[in-house]
Amino acid sequence: MDFRRRTFIGAAGLAFTGWDRDWHRLRLSGRLVLPGDPDYDVQRRPFNTLYEQRRPAAIALCATEDDVARCLEHASRERLPVAARSGRHSYAGYSVPEGGLVVDLAALAGVRPGREAVVGAGTSMIELYERLGAAGRLLPGGTCRSVGIGGLALGGGISVVARAYGLTCDHLVGARVVTPDGCLRRVDAEHDPDLFWALRGGGGGNFGVVTSFRFGTAPARDLVPFVLITPPGAEVDVFGAWQEWLADLPDELWTACRLEMGRPPSALVSGCWVGTPEGLAPWLDRFAAKVPVLSRDVRPMDYLTAMRHFAGCLDGCPPVEGNRFVASSRVLRGPVDPATAVRLVDRPRSGAILFDSFGGAIARVRPDATAFPHRDASASAQIFVDATGVAEAEARRELAEVRDGLGASGGYVNYIDPEMPDWRAAYYGRNHARLHRVARRYDPDRVLAFPQAV
Ligand SMILES: Cc1cc2nc3c(=O)[nH]c(=O)nc-3n(C[C@H](O)[C@H](O)[C@H](O)COP(=O)(O)OP(=O)(O)OC[C@H]3O[C@@H](n4cnc5c(N)ncnc54)[C@H](O)[C@@H]3O)c2cc1C
Repeated sequence: MDFRRRTFIGAAGLAFTGWDRDWHRLRLSGRLVLPGDPDYDVQRRPFNTLYEQRRPAAIALCATEDDVARCLEHASRERLPVAARSGRHSYAGYSVPEGGLVVDLAALAGVRPGREAVVGAGTSMIELYERLGAAGRLLPGGTCRSVGIGGLALGGGISVVARAYGLTCDHLVGARVVTPDGCLRRVDAEHDPDLFWALRGGGGGNFGVVTSFRFGTAPARDLVPFVLITPPGAEVDVFGAWQEWLADLPDELWTACRLEMGRPPSALVSGCWVGTPEGLAPWLDRFAAKVPVLSRDVRPMDYLTAMRHFAGCLDGCPPVEGNRFVASSRVLRGPVDPATAVRLVDRPRSGAILFDSFGGAIARVRPDATAFPHRDASASAQIFVDATGVAEAEARRELAEVRDGLGASGGYVNYIDPEMPDWRAAYYGRNHARLHRVARRYDPDRVLAFPQAV
């Protein structure tokens, strides 16, 4: 046993001491990356580089489900913080615990397409779309190419076809989960039904580590991504018209309105239609009747090309580069005052509020049928502030101004915000009490604890 003393510097600048862990007892088919390993700095790096100083005690590059079970047993025995990691995109860096063990699932990637697709927990969005699209199947998922299915599906999963097909988690029919007792469970509506309920929107990092998902898929359909250019200076009218437009959209039409920070701020309306451009045109006319539209960029394409388009991979995927940012969200259950929203982004800072339309198939699921509670929302508001060259505290002050100024409550757990006021109610509403019971049942010793664990 190696009892050399080691000092870790925490993300908050606090130094704490610990003992080197008895790592030789953690035998893996995959590889354990420790500080000092030439790979360590690459392997610990999160997408949000605000957290790039985090120093986990070890990163387990798991090759099998047994590896995952051994990691959880080891962390439990050694009382180490531990977190699963799929695509590394946690806004708060929660998949890289300071001084803890990262259970990396990248090697457990892969897709077996079909009416029910089996998706390894380390699969990225673009890999998912490539494999499903080639087989003529569709699953609603995130737009960013490198987001992992692990975090995305467990928190809900908002997509450009969400109004037609619902959330990613609405398609979950089963999962293989290693719970903190080291047990591999095949979870579905009949087996561990409470856990199955919690996996659909209860948030990544809670309950256990999912090693693979089974999703119901739909036949792939042609899509029509579009962008509407509106006059500069008309942002208040544009956002007001966009909110009115949401009131009677068909399910086939999903849309977003981006209010970009700046002096002056700007607005951009975009979206995606399931079907042909002819079907879309009358709906765009309706929007154009409310506010001048200078030009329409309407691009019909097949499903796979559309998903590459949204992922920025039409000419091949560029390498994944992280960003330094702070982010949060609100959930809209009624209109936001357009003048207030535009005033909030009128600031000399890089960032945005991105409003994504809800409704349609999302709203046809009861708020307590899955753990995702925001079924009656009209839209979500994703807020981010670029923190490049800015002190974190200053970026967070501006983020809070926007988040708290919108006059909306609620939050989307996948846009996890370490400073979200009353986060339990915001992310989970009335579902929190049941989620808490499920978490205590499957993780009674809080092996998977993290700052916003259920
Ligand atoms: C650039 C960008 C674009 C995004 N676009 C979208 C979008 O279009 N739609 C949308 O809904 N969201 C989107 N998100 C949010 C995204 O869904 C969340 O950040 C999600 O948590 C990322 O999952 P991940 O696996 O990549 O991240 P990770 O950092 O690996 O994990 C996130 C959390 O889930 C846990 N976790 C990961 N895998 C597992 C697992 N297998 N079992 C148990 N827990 C697990 C981690 O411990 C951590 O707490 C985006 C985020 C970014 C940064």
